[in-house]
Amino acid sequence: MLAAQAPGRHRHTVTDAEVKRVHASAILIDTHNDVTSATVAGLDIGKPNTDHMTDLPRMKAGGMGAQFFAVYVAASYVNGNRSANRTLQMIDTVRHDIVEKYPRDFLLATTVADIRRAHRQHKIAALLGIEGGHAIEDSLRLLRRYYDEGVRYMTLTHANSNHWADSSGDDNKPNNGLSPFGKEVVREMNRLGMIVDISHVSDKTFWDALETSQAPIFASHSSCRAIAPAPRNMTDEMIRALAKKGGVVQINLSCDFLNAGAAKAEADFEARLRPIRDELMAKYANNPDGLRTAMREARTRVGAPPEQRATLADVVRHINHVVELAGVDAVGLGSDFDGISCAPEGLDSVDKWPNLTRALLEEGYTAADIRKIYGENTLRLMAAVERTAQQLRSTETR
Ligand SMILES: [Zn+2]
Repeated sequence: MLAAQAPGRHRHTVTDAEVKRVHASAILIDTHNDVTSATVAGLDIGKPNTDHMTDLPRMKAGGMGAQFFAVYVAASYVNGNRSANRTLQMIDTVRHDIVEKYPRDFLLATTVADIRRAHRQHKIAALLGIEGGHAIEDSLRLLRRYYDEGVRYMTLTHANSNHWADSSGDDNKPNNGLSPFGKEVVREMNRLGMIVDISHVSDKTFWDALETSQAPIFASHSSCRAIAPAPRNMTDEMIRALAKKGGVVQINLSCDFLNAGAAKAEADFEARLRPIRDELMAKYANNPDGLRTAMREARTRVGAPPEQRATLADVVRHINHVVELAGVDAVGLGSDFDGISCAPEGLDSVDKWPNLTRALLEEGYTAADIRKIYGENTLRLMAAVERTAQQLRSTETR
């Protein structure tokens, strides 16, 4: 099985017709897109734009089947307990500014069946994923409310640790992974049928979440640390363990997550920026807009990181790596478009997905493999999460 799929074995040139046919046969599901941070501030997703990686015309051109839109809640909203407010506003931008505004193109989806129905109706399934566990303000009641609003995954942390889970972006690890309440959060997510997302969490939080969860879990937007040493990427050991429990690594397209040279350049830049950021975060503690503007100015002052662009070949390398470690059932796509500043040459916006189809066919992947990577692996995982929730709820009422 593995030998037939091993990279480089069956390299061949493919025709445009083959790319088109295979691409159209897949339900392409991207599990992370941050354009919502722009739509909530007024961007019209239906109009073509040039300053973002996402708009509806390009999503159609890219042959997209489903998009998990990020309900991203910045760490700054923890100040003054404004996380729930922001979460609801971000949910609303997906429901109101995207789905309700373009009902002929989008269908709000919460289940596997919804995604397949959207595909049959030639619509793009729009799904909700919360990014940053502080969104629940330490309350299982808010978690349940978000589920009822349609949220189907939650990234346990963002770059900040919260009161119950540690982040890979936090040098202090205040919870030593998941706290007892953090484990309760995971169990309640299992009971509701919300995917546990371990992108952004510390390694110890990953292991605790994997052990605690009764359903498969995923990384909605992370890549392989063996190839690019970003702490947000997953080690080989983590990838194998995640896959063994039915999980999926959704490959993140950020240049520094894909390519070690780009990672080094970004790390040097970050090191120069860090003291300035700490200062500004204290200064603008209650003013997220002010912080954003000041940070943009600081970035320009420090100077952009040297241009080290990843390529489509890097993306294929990460997919190959997961396949070699854990098989073709363990990998998917979590672009992080519009949440990243650099995307690979050849795959830098939502219309470019067919380029990846071509590259994977050239690499020797079959149409069936590509259908798994693009969507079927995620649908299988979602079905398992739905099944676990049904089982847990039915034992309750017995
Ligand atoms: Zn993220």
